[in-house]
Amino acid sequence: MHAQDIYKKFFMDNSVVAHRGAWKTRGLPQNSIESLREAMRLGCTGSEFDVQMTADSVLVLCHDNSYFGKTIEKHTYRELAETKLSNGETIPRLEKALMEGMKQTDTRLFLEIKSSSTVERTVLSAEKIVQTVNEMGAQPWVFYISFDYETVKRIKQLVPSSAVAYLSGNVSPEQLKQDRITGLDYQYNVFKKDTGMIRNARESGLSLNVWTVNSSGDMDLFLVHGFDYITTDEPELLLSKKK
Ligand code: MG
Repeated sequence: MHAQDIYKKFFMDNSVVAHRGAWKTRGLPQNSIESLREAMRLGCTGSEFDVQMTADSVLVLCHDNSYFGKTIEKHTYRELAETKLSNGETIPRLEKALMEGMKQTDTRLFLEIKSSSTVERTVLSAEKIVQTVNEMGAQPWVFYISFDYETVKRIKQLVPSSAVAYLSGNVSPEQLKQDRITGLDYQYNVFKKDTGMIRNARESGLSLNVWTVNSSGDMDLFLVHGFDYITTDEPELLLSKKK
């Protein structure tokens, strides 16, 4: 049995991963603690969020490389924290999101490691993220994802039992298996253009995740194909379909 399967039984038995938390219906800020809480309240099996490193090496949740006009890697956490999110939250630190997630076992944390301006800094940020997750004992909750293949491989080197998926869509299931990557997490058009990839991934024992699926028809398609995870901005709609 793969490590990801052992962990999977602890989380909700559906394929719904809320993209940047469940924010849309209630108008919450993306990547906020409140949007993570909402994904947990809804009973999503996963909640995705993006992690970046500030100039003073604090790990924060944010999708863009700038936060209200301030480039994250060029500003300190204190400088960034001067501007609040629209719901009054301070830009969340990774530790806070992990602590929140570890209060429960319904919803897994899909932690996207964002790339920095240099390869070296991206590696540094990835290592710091892994260290933080390990020190907090949060590993069973975390499914790492990244667009950077070197980062994906590095995480597997650092913690061979960790669950890690690759996002960019340009590595074959066979290669991912060879590199001992847990799964693929590709944009929906990659799978629509090449449905054989779904079969190959299954045969290679990889977990299957797809992003970002927001239309009802596409949800049905990937549910029929039995995807392990479907990342969506519309978790309520996908949950209403179940499996
Ligand atoms: Mg993301």
